[in-house]
Amino acid sequence: MTRYDYDLFVIGAGSGGVRAARIAAGHGARVAICEESRVGGTCVIRGCVPKKLLVYASQFAESFADAAGYGWSAPESQFSWPALIRAKDAEIDRLNRIYLGLLDNAGVDLHMGRGRLVDDHTVAVGEARFTAERILIAVGGRPWVPDIPGKELGFTSDGAFHLEKQPRRVLIAGAGYIAVEFAGIFNGLGSEVTLAYRRDRILRGFDGDVRLAVERGMAGRGVDFRYHAAPARLEAVGEGIRVTYSDDRTQVVDGVMFATGRQPYTWDLGLEQVGVQTGPGNRIEVDDYSRTSVEHIFAVGDVTDRFNLTPVALMEGHAFADTQFGGMDRPVEHADTPAAVFSQPPVGTVGLTEEQAQAHGLRVKVFRSEFTPMKYTLAGRQEKGMMKLVVDADTNRVVGCHVVGPDASEMLQGFAVAVRAGLTKADFDRTIGIHPTAAEELVTMRQPLA
Ligand code: NDP
Repeated sequence: MTRYDYDLFVIGAGSGGVRAARIAAGHGARVAICEESRVGGTCVIRGCVPKKLLVYASQFAESFADAAGYGWSAPESQFSWPALIRAKDAEIDRLNRIYLGLLDNAGVDLHMGRGRLVDDHTVAVGEARFTAERILIAVGGRPWVPDIPGKELGFTSDGAFHLEKQPRRVLIAGAGYIAVEFAGIFNGLGSEVTLAYRRDRILRGFDGDVRLAVERGMAGRGVDFRYHAAPARLEAVGEGIRVTYSDDRTQVVDGVMFATGRQPYTWDLGLEQVGVQTGPGNRIEVDDYSRTSVEHIFAVGDVTDRFNLTPVALMEGHAFADTQFGGMDRPVEHADTPAAVFSQPPVGTVGLTEEQAQAHGLRVKVFRSEFTPMKYTLAGRQEKGMMKLVVDADTNRVVGCHVVGPDASEMLQGFAVAVRAGLTKADFDRTIGIHPTAAEELVTMRQPLA
């Protein structure tokens, strides 16, 4: 006789949780999952997917403008924010239904409601109690907003997807992924965008040349950067919001977006009660098998604050399910995780930045190319793309690949395979380019920088 209602109970039906539930069920486990909001999680409902749809929407103005250089005379175009939001919502509804179908087809029981640990084998969802041999916490993260007077007048990425009106003038606080992506979205859709950042250059942690190229591209498109500036107070004034910065300068805008980071959604989960240890920023501490400090409780995805990316959560959830229910030995593997920033211009990156390689004590050779993308020539656009290879001079291995420019995110997936496979610069050099493309630059750079 089985002692528990389920072999696995998953708290949180986002990317990591759904993947783990489905794979575990596929291995024959009896699985349940609970969700307090909508199945699909941050990525599908209020993250990657709706964001990318908004990015697409925001790129049309540039295409209309560039078309003239190719002989087109386009009629005056008009944009409707409510129409975009409606279309985006319909698509998210469709994807949500697909996710529900995936769980159903896999035979996973779905319980709607917030899950909370009652003891180390019991999860409460509302009034109901479920026992499980193993529990997986995959509750993700939530936007974090600095505690300043008037902060409630601003919105986060969650709210950005549901604004009734497009702000004509918008201030974005922060300079990470979300800030630069939304700066591009609002700017492309015609808002006046100010990006305020407390330090001196966007995208901290990315390669220095990437940061510079993105900043130049965004500035060239009209984004106004305010460095060494963080909003200290917001006040409603007439139709707008007055922002007072830490240095007492002020600015009036129609919307303030906080893109000041996200934090693990660990509060009120019952973690302390069952002894699940948390670390800095309240992230759940796990080992390479995503096991928490409690033997049969695991955690994957943003709640563990390892690499907060959807494909990483999918890998972690999959590896967990294969190990625990599929008889395999699959620790998580985060090395050479590629990433894209859907800024305008976009970024694709994998491996070490030049700064990281140097900090690791590597003797590096750097190959860099800056060029005008072909599409921009007839369009008369001045912007340059940037490509960079960071090579370990002792082994000739390509340890980092960084691209800024059109299609960078698409380009990087293939190069991520090469970097992960440990290929050398000689392997890149042997590879024949595809002409005429931007990507061929990555196999034709011959001279390292001095
Ligand atoms: P990030 O951590 O990338 O950026 C947060 C930004 O807010 C930083 O510029 C940070 O400054 C700033 N900040 C933090 N605290 C304050 C403060 N008190 N006052 C002013 N500024 C502050 O977080 P995001 O919210 O942009 O994104 C969260 C995560 O989501 C990312 O790390 C990424 O993993 C994921 N994501 C991935 C995407 C993709 O793959 N394309 C897209 C969107 C999100 P500082 O640099 O000084 O710390």
